[in-house]
Amino acid sequence: MQRERPSIYLDHSATTPVWPEVLEAMQPYFLECYGNPSSIHGAGRRAHAGLQSARARIAELIDASPREIVFTGCGSESNNAALRGIGLARKAQTGANRIITSPVEHHAILETLEDLKELHGFAIEMLPVDSHGLVHADDLASRLGEDVALVSVMYANNEVGTVQPLAQLGEICRRHAVPFHSDAVQAMGKLPVNVDHLGVDALSASAHKFHGPKGVGFLYLRQNTPYRPFLTGGGHEGGRRAGTENVPLIVGMATALEHNLQHAQADWERMAALRDRLAEGVLTRVEGACLTGHPSRRLPHHASFILRGLEAEPVLIGLDMAGVMASSGSACTSGAQQPSHVLSSMGIHPPDSYGALRFSLGHGTREADVRFAVERLADITARLQGARPIV
Ligand code: PLP
Repeated sequence: MQRERPSIYLDHSATTPVWPEVLEAMQPYFLECYGNPSSIHGAGRRAHAGLQSARARIAELIDASPREIVFTGCGSESNNAALRGIGLARKAQTGANRIITSPVEHHAILETLEDLKELHGFAIEMLPVDSHGLVHADDLASRLGEDVALVSVMYANNEVGTVQPLAQLGEICRRHAVPFHSDAVQAMGKLPVNVDHLGVDALSASAHKFHGPKGVGFLYLRQNTPYRPFLTGGGHEGGRRAGTENVPLIVGMATALEHNLQHAQADWERMAALRDRLAEGVLTRVEGACLTGHPSRRLPHHASFILRGLEAEPVLIGLDMAGVMASSGSACTSGAQQPSHVLSSMGIHPPDSYGALRFSLGHGTREADVRFAVERLADITARLQGARPIV
């Protein structure tokens, strides 16, 4: 008799399943409260009430004020809005044209900055990172000046899980009166987010990373931060983002964040312990495996490795055939056959970086899943290493 193939999803950094309570909260806004939230009639008012309640709930969860929340279409849009919106407003107001960032940022940051350089003449400066992908606060302090329009450093890295010292960076930016943005797409729902404690003026989030729907995100934008709308048109979102708000998805996002921060948080400790067991298993059972990212300052559900002498693709295919879904790093670059810019900036170059592997756990992950994944990985890598000499 053939055994049923398991389905073990260990790619929660790519995306997460929508929780049933999130789906349930969204449904009335598709079927009953479907009005345009800008309309003055009853249907519009009901949609508007859902929208504003979602805004207030999200604001409260991150210690912001409701009018500081701008709804967007995804994390990439939030990043675009922050960089273009704040960067161009600061340049227009003060002439400041340097933007400081880190080389381990997501493409949604790096490509947008490349555009700002080419189209608007900004000078883009990279902070150094160490071999764990960590930025050091002293390196930021020595670079800040009046001509800096904006600093943008992510909260936690998608490929290697390293958590940046945001509060320290935010404090330095505040002292120099330079706006500070952080891409918190991977951190939201998994690490504490209090915008005052972190010292951020802008912060990006995306619902599908925390069990909300895809295609919706938000930008926290501190009051009085210089900002020019990146998406122009109607006066939606206080004139900061044109376009009729996607009320069902926004309600789903608020419910997901609430559920994450109020109920699921206790599970992160369990998950971090499982992650450590997974890392230990991989490092002891797989020849040539090394952990990437910071050993302790890392996302609680994230374990990433390089498998020296192997390429990730056959390993991922083998895992998938065994019923284990993982990834080689960021979902956006997998399959692109490009060496990872994150690993390169940490001093890991091809061929080692071609063996990048990422497991990201979720609330449904059990110890048996982790054991199974490690066993299958050990079998697959041993088979591949036997087939090909280690270079
Ligand atoms: N920033 C980071 C750190 C991410 O990991 C991702 C997605 O993986 C994004 C931004 C883009 O988010 P979205 O897919 O919602 O555009």
